[in-house]
Amino acid sequence: MVKAIVGANWGDEGKGKITDMMAREADIIVRFQGGANAGHTIVNDYGKFALHTLPSGVFYNHTTSVIGNGVALNIPVLFQEIQSIVERGVPVPKILVSDRAQMVMSYHILFDQYEEERLGGKSFGSTKSGIAPFYSDKYAKIGFQVSELFDEEILKEKVKSICEKKNVLLEHLYHKPLLRPEDLMKELREYREQVEPYVCDTSAYLWNAVQNGKNILLEGQLGSLKDPDHGIYPMVTSSSTLAAYGAIGAGIPPYEISKIITVCKAYSSAVGAGAFVSEIFGEEADELRRRGGDGGEYGVTTGRPRRMGWFDAVASKYGCRIQGTTDVAFTVLDVLGYLEEIPVCIGYEIDGRVTTEFPPTAKLEKAKPVLKVLPGWKCDIRGIRKYEELPENCRKYIEFIEEKIGFPITMISNGPGRDDIIYR
Ligand code: GDP
Repeated sequence: MVKAIVGANWGDEGKGKITDMMAREADIIVRFQGGANAGHTIVNDYGKFALHTLPSGVFYNHTTSVIGNGVALNIPVLFQEIQSIVERGVPVPKILVSDRAQMVMSYHILFDQYEEERLGGKSFGSTKSGIAPFYSDKYAKIGFQVSELFDEEILKEKVKSICEKKNVLLEHLYHKPLLRPEDLMKELREYREQVEPYVCDTSAYLWNAVQNGKNILLEGQLGSLKDPDHGIYPMVTSSSTLAAYGAIGAGIPPYEISKIITVCKAYSSAVGAGAFVSEIFGEEADELRRRGGDGGEYGVTTGRPRRMGWFDAVASKYGCRIQGTTDVAFTVLDVLGYLEEIPVCIGYEIDGRVTTEFPPTAKLEKAKPVLKVLPGWKCDIRGIRKYEELPENCRKYIEFIEEKIGFPITMISNGPGRDDIIYR
């Protein structure tokens, strides 16, 4: 059985925690898109970890972690992460890397930085991990596939042509040092040495696993609203964040994905630029940011303070629909326990008309939130394991949101730990 765990919002919904928790019953966890630009925070018996590339299931002995073909593979980051978890007592994880995955090269990271610098105030707020230049090159068909590492002739030829192309931009657009073919060859040989023991045809591996009835989790990065097609383009990421892309980015039949668990946060947070209709500011935002997540809402990769807002039912309904949600995991609900009253965005007013349909970016920029204020529950709900034991106003909040988004909330997360979960 294949289940996807994906985000309904702008990312940081707590997918890492849900994946880590569900990995208890999984055999294989697959990353199918994105790169080291976003992070997952996981709190378990070994401590607190921020992972960027490793799937969130690496903490179990019984699971195999797969880096699928759709991932932007940053080999140094992958190996630093393996080392850092092993140093803290986690057993050496079993990892397989797709021979069709492509690699983030050091120049992708440089180009990301140079472009942000060039754009100045108009930048996209990139994490400068090289993701946009990486995917641009992938689709321009000048990327490096892992399988190519094992053919020096291919590498030499490609390196030469890449240097020719990139150096024009480096010299004339960015005025930065040029790439040297010998440096790139050295980089590629180092990558080969590091990755070789893990490389295989992961789609064949997953096909066999599916045939043998294994439990497979597909772990998404970011959320629906950062999808390049369905999100808030151009303030999106460069690979699809949708469960449907799991089939492509992992190389499995789409009809095998039978459960789509969409992780949806009990309030909103976003990083980077872009329209954010239910955003709040000032002291109100600072307090939610301070209390949010597990130790505050700051980016796992960049440490940037996240933008904060109330729950957005318009964006979340859309985010769940576009994922093809079968189950909603509603997270970080415990954080809201301090509030007397909790506003929820239930509609967008655009040019004097109210809608509950999430619009494309040009219209989104004009949207003003229509808020409904619900009573808070004013207590700590951590430690509760049964739905009926939640305070009445808390259940009302969940049920109100469930009705507004139109998808069943079957899991409620009331703390960062593996066991902080209420099944419904
Ligand atoms: P991801 O990228 O979707 O995995 O999300 P992040 O890891 O960036 O952000 C989620 C943050 O919230 C992490 O610090 C988690 O430890 C924390 N977290 C997850 N679920 C809960 C929850 O139910 N309650 C609280 N308080 N924190 C949670």
